[in-house]
Amino acid sequence: MLTASFRFYEELNDFLPKERRKVDFIYSFDRKASIKDCIESMGVPHTEIDLILVNGISVDFSYILTDQDQVSVYPVFELLDITEVTRLRPKPLRDPKFVVDVNLGRLARYLRLIGFDTLYRNDFDDKDLVRISSQQGRILLTRDRNLLKHSVITHGCFVYSTKPLKQIEEVIQRLDLTGTAVPFKRCIRCNGMLQPVEKREIEERLPPLTRKYYEVFWMCGSCEQVYWKGAHYGRMMELVEGLLEC
Ligand SMILES: [Zn+2]
Repeated sequence: MLTASFRFYEELNDFLPKERRKVDFIYSFDRKASIKDCIESMGVPHTEIDLILVNGISVDFSYILTDQDQVSVYPVFELLDITEVTRLRPKPLRDPKFVVDVNLGRLARYLRLIGFDTLYRNDFDDKDLVRISSQQGRILLTRDRNLLKHSVITHGCFVYSTKPLKQIEEVIQRLDLTGTAVPFKRCIRCNGMLQPVEKREIEERLPPLTRKYYEVFWMCGSCEQVYWKGAHYGRMMELVEGLLEC
């Protein structure tokens, strides 16, 4: 029997059973296996890992674990400069686009609110999510760690929080979205793009008071939902400013 010593850092510990958290532990194996397979068999999805050191040297996912290796596994760093070592994640996508798991509908709406192309349907199944993410280069957001273990997924994020507002904060911080966010350019309902529209074209669809008090309107190019800067807009604006400050 061969053995290696492992230690996981920061939030990666959340994926481990209690007795393996924040301590060195011994992992036994009896056949040649890549370090990626070993780590995933312990419950940690590869999308969450940014750096693996074996005996102090950075390795990639294909490294074959050998007897007596000492392994340290680190999560995605956004703020630390680790340019000198091999980062495991592909380069961040310059124009981030998302596909969101079925139980994260509020998160999807928040992402659209700040302008990100976000596919969400409450009837996507696991196969749909994996296929859309890999074929369209969309970052898969999910709370299902097994989904992130699919090898075709190169860009994915495990969403730690269960509260929608915390979830959007988490995604903004982890992917550093503040600089690329453009609020109010996308339909929250369907992900379509908003276009300015003349009042007379949509007048008969407006509630009476809105027709009376508002002059500037946008319409979704896909589902034709009409938007204007009513009371709701003020509340949304506050929310967005709060989010993009974090
Ligand atoms: Zn729409």
